[in-house]
Amino acid sequence: MEQSHGLLIILSGPSGAGKGTLCQELLRQIPNLKYSVSMTTRPPRPGEVEGIHYFFRTRTEVEAMIAGDELLEWASFCDNYYGTPRFAVEQAIQAGQDVILEIEIQGALQVKKRFPQGVFTFIVPPSMDVLAERIYKRGTETEEVIQKRLATAIQELEYVSEYDYVVINDEVPVAVDKLKSILIAEKCRVKRKPFVFKGEAK
Ligand code: 5GP
Repeated sequence: MEQSHGLLIILSGPSGAGKGTLCQELLRQIPNLKYSVSMTTRPPRPGEVEGIHYFFRTRTEVEAMIAGDELLEWASFCDNYYGTPRFAVEQAIQAGQDVILEIEIQGALQVKKRFPQGVFTFIVPPSMDVLAERIYKRGTETEEVIQKRLATAIQELEYVSEYDYVVINDEVPVAVDKLKSILIAEKCRVKRKPFVFKGEAK
């Protein structure tokens, strides 16, 4: 049987929906899953490591990558650039590895145009109150940035219909199980399988 390409899984959802936690849990539980490390111009948060959480770059550097079509997608989110390095993702998928992108919506819509066979999954918080509470608890943003992120979150929720799946992140283990089920189902899709019967029909 010829080798299948890996899946490209796109996780989007408002800041504070818990995409990061879900992503980490999936990476811990699924051995063949690779996290796509994004470029960003925002400064590192305490504990964030270059090349693991993000590649931290200047605006000029990211603009050069955009001009050179080195990004699979990119977006300006709350005054900073974010983008997915194209080559690493393409290489992994062609090698049969599953890749997960944790990106916002403008970027996800670009990926949908370039790679419609991606698995587009939207993560939502159980309520706006919970969302606000999570962002405040994280304690890594100024009040101004928090307000901007909350306003952006409300706009983002309108895009859920562009996605294939929606998962409410109320309890992390439940949400992780749902995401794993989605991936298992996607891998069983007939159109993804180069399925050939051996021998001839009588
Ligand atoms: P944060 O600053 O909280 O790490 O990320 C802000 C938003 O940017 C989140 O919604 C996150 O998913 C999104 N993001 C992270 N990396 C990328 C990327 O490469 N492309 C796009 N379009 N969004 C990204």
